[in-house]
Amino acid sequence: MKTFLEEVNEKINGVPIQRCYHCRKCTAGCPMAFAMEHNPNRVVKMIQMEKREEVLASGTIWLCVSCETCITRCPNEVDIARMMDVLRQMAIETGVGAKEKNILKFHEAFLANIRMGGRINEPTMMVHYKLKSGDLFSDMAMGIDMFRKGKLSLISPRTRDMKSVRRIFEKTRQS
Ligand code: SF4
Ligand code: SF4
Repeated sequence: MKTFLEEVNEKINGVPIQRCYHCRKCTAGCPMAFAMEHNPNRVVKMIQMEKREEVLASGTIWLCVSCETCITRCPNEVDIARMMDVLRQMAIETGVGAKEKNILKFHEAFLANIRMGGRINEPTMMVHYKLKSGDLFSDMAMGIDMFRKGKLSLISPRTRDMKSVRRIFEKTRQS
């Protein structure tokens, strides 16, 4: 049976995370570290220590916004953004789900939006999320404000290469 570390490395399919020597440059640059229960390099350490349940149940993996600042700063090119993605997928597949309230629904609304047009359209994504979560009115005032300031558009952007988008989703479904 594979260890947690082996499984994560296999799914990352890139630089093995044991290359990390815990310099903490990733954590120092991470815009979400302030809100994370375990900072990014600590998650690496926990995987190295085989803390599977603790890692998959942690809210940290759902707070990563995939900005890739960490990999840009890492002297060893450890792809923490990809690692977080892998961990989220493992949490879903093993039935652990997401610790943060409604975050899995947000994740699903985000992916559904990408699947539709290859790009994010904030208003339609938020409507989708609101309907899924039942949290209908909590940020309506902010939404109206953003719309008035021209920060939100009702016109949905669509990539010209929808074939590739469909191929990516299909490939993910099969793996
Ligand atoms: S920057 Fe890279 S080597 Fe340094 S702690 Fe983060 S993952 Fe490890
Ligand atoms: S990709 Fe995630 S872990 Fe890396 S810096 Fe951005 S938010 Fe932090």
